[in-house]
Amino acid sequence: MDVQLLESTPEPERVICTAARNDYSSAFVGEQSFATTMEPINGETIEDKKHSLISRLLKHGHFGPFEHAHATFAVKGISRSCMAQLTRHRHVSFDVQSQRYVSFDDVDPADVRDGELVVMPPSVSDPDWIGRNQQGGTTDSETIDQRTAVFKETVANAVESYQTLLDLGLPPEDARFVLPIGSKVNVVMTMNARMLMHVADMRAAADSQWEIRELTEQVLDLAADWCPITFEHYESEMKGRKNRLAP
Ligand SMILES: Cc1cc2nc3c(=O)[nH]c(=O)nc-3n(C[C@H](O)[C@H](O)[C@H](O)COP(=O)(O)OP(=O)(O)OC[C@H]3O[C@@H](n4cnc5c(N)ncnc54)[C@H](O)[C@@H]3O)c2cc1C
Repeated sequence: MDVQLLESTPEPERVICTAARNDYSSAFVGEQSFATTMEPINGETIEDKKHSLISRLLKHGHFGPFEHAHATFAVKGISRSCMAQLTRHRHVSFDVQSQRYVSFDDVDPADVRDGELVVMPPSVSDPDWIGRNQQGGTTDSETIDQRTAVFKETVANAVESYQTLLDLGLPPEDARFVLPIGSKVNVVMTMNARMLMHVADMRAAADSQWEIRELTEQVLDLAADWCPITFEHYESEMKGRKNRLAP
């Protein structure tokens, strides 16, 4: 899996603060400097004032201003299972690589055994993997070898059957029915900072599934560079309080 930040609102926290200040300002924020807009907020410098206002907004549940900052992420190689979970979030915009128009006819089934085309969950080969509800734990090496072999053979066979069906003239949109739910897919998604925090509330939580949790952690790392004050306060004050942003 790889996650990249493609595009984002420049100076997102300036936009968030300006929008928030608009609510309590008799002057028009479009006709004054940012420094003037932030004048009544506590803090020595503009950075201090941004910290102070953003922290207050998050603490008081004034989340609307965070909807004005958007980010677009490119996600490479998540499973279709993970994609199905991700696309449940209705305020995120998605583009999903199509299995109707992209046929995987040139992938070598031998490479599929090595993780090409299908995501292999760590629990297959990691003897010490502990999943949700403490599932897993120490597993002997013979069992690990067996389940790794079964997993790799099954996915390689599925891809081989898929390619045979393509060779027999079945359209990709129908041949794909035999591909595993772990098949990799690339996704582009756009969301605002409020929704990003909501997705993180739900998907970075300990009871979330490992793959979408890993994806969310990568998104959060990129968000921390893009919108640093917001995500610093989110991490320190908000994270773990489930559904805080979309009660
Ligand atoms: C650990 C975990 C396990 C899960 N297991 C399952 C499962 O077994 N089966 C399953 O089907 N789903 C499951 N889900 C998905 C979950 O039920 C939600 O559908 C998904 O997380 C989307 O989140 P959301 O409901 O907050 O909606 P989002 O689409 O992210 O919307 C954000 C917020 O907007 C508001 N909103 C959006 N649309 C509406 C609407 N139409 N009406 C009213 N308010 C709205 C709500 O306040 C919502 O919280 C699971 C999620 C997690 C995190």
